[in-house]
Amino acid sequence: MSAPTDRIDACVERLRRGALVAFPTETVYGLGAVATDERAVARVFSLKGRPAHNPLIVHVDSPEMARAYVAHWPERAQRLASAFWPGALTLVLARSGSVPDLVTGGGETVGVRCPDHPLALALIGQLGEGLVGPSANPSGGVSPTTGAHVRASFSEDEVLVLDGGPCRAGIESTVLDLTRTPARVLRPGVIGSERIGAVLGEDVLASASAAGGEVRSPGLLGPHYAPNAPVRLFGDQTGLAELLRSCPGGAVVLSRSAMDPGPDAQVLRLPSDAPGYAAALYSALREADALAPALIAVERPPDAGGGGGRGGAESAQDRAIWAAVLDRLTRATKSPDYPSS
Ligand code: AMP
Ligand code: MG
Repeated sequence: MSAPTDRIDACVERLRRGALVAFPTETVYGLGAVATDERAVARVFSLKGRPAHNPLIVHVDSPEMARAYVAHWPERAQRLASAFWPGALTLVLARSGSVPDLVTGGGETVGVRCPDHPLALALIGQLGEGLVGPSANPSGGVSPTTGAHVRASFSEDEVLVLDGGPCRAGIESTVLDLTRTPARVLRPGVIGSERIGAVLGEDVLASASAAGGEVRSPGLLGPHYAPNAPVRLFGDQTGLAELLRSCPGGAVVLSRSAMDPGPDAQVLRLPSDAPGYAAALYSALREADALAPALIAVERPPDAGGGGGRGGAESAQDRAIWAAVLDRLTRATKSPDYPSS
């Protein structure tokens, strides 16, 4: 394989002529196009089959670069960027005139984020401008966390992959609406509202999406993150047994603990710690799906409500991760209201 600098050169060359690349971030692989190149951005939508109302995030290498895409860079944004960038926090702010309508889904705001991955930062830095970077997979499916996942969906002609190995965090960024006070989490991620609130010195509204409340972020409507096989959640061994009885045929069980699924099911064990689980989740869902089971049964994450938690940065972080995992799994079931044991 060629050296990273050669591969970055090749990606920059592709991007400058309006073609697409996939780049690694700490969350998932992004499908990159120059954010101000309308034709390239249109190609991102068509290749993914992404609905036009679902806005894209502009990936930058610094707060300075982010300023080019927003109308104002408020003090609150600077504080959050100092605390969390590079990192898995997307800030939604009033857009500047340089952002095409296509990127914002026709709205007046834009999401900006500085990813925490050396190859992504080198690519954006060398290009000298921001990249849109939705997950590099067909819309609605399971996001890619390795270069091989991307290559399973797109040919090298369509998308040149800058392979940086497996993604460290493994689930998409927290999306925070900073256009209003209090700030509001639109999509939960590894960086939770507690940590954001501590930096801002104000209360931050937690995401409404997983709880079924009002959703203000267009792309968060409807099913997402879903394998081909149906996904259902269970709480314990009894719940699993009921689920397997209700759906005869081969099942794959994703669990954090030792489970006895009986003769018709196969178990894939996931790490029991929150960061390890999040990093492994999408690969496990893909692995399960590849077995073409009648059902993928997933053990519910531990209660992410935080009640009775001892507080402290580490447990707040774990609670945020489990809440984000539950959000993704709930949408993978394709029905937020689907009864789970
Ligand atoms: P993806 O690129 O697939 O990770 O999705 C990005 C998600 O971020 C979208 O589906 C929206 O939910 C959210 N998002 C991006 N830009 C905005 C924006 N300007 N306003 C509200 N939500 C946004
Ligand atoms: Mg996606």
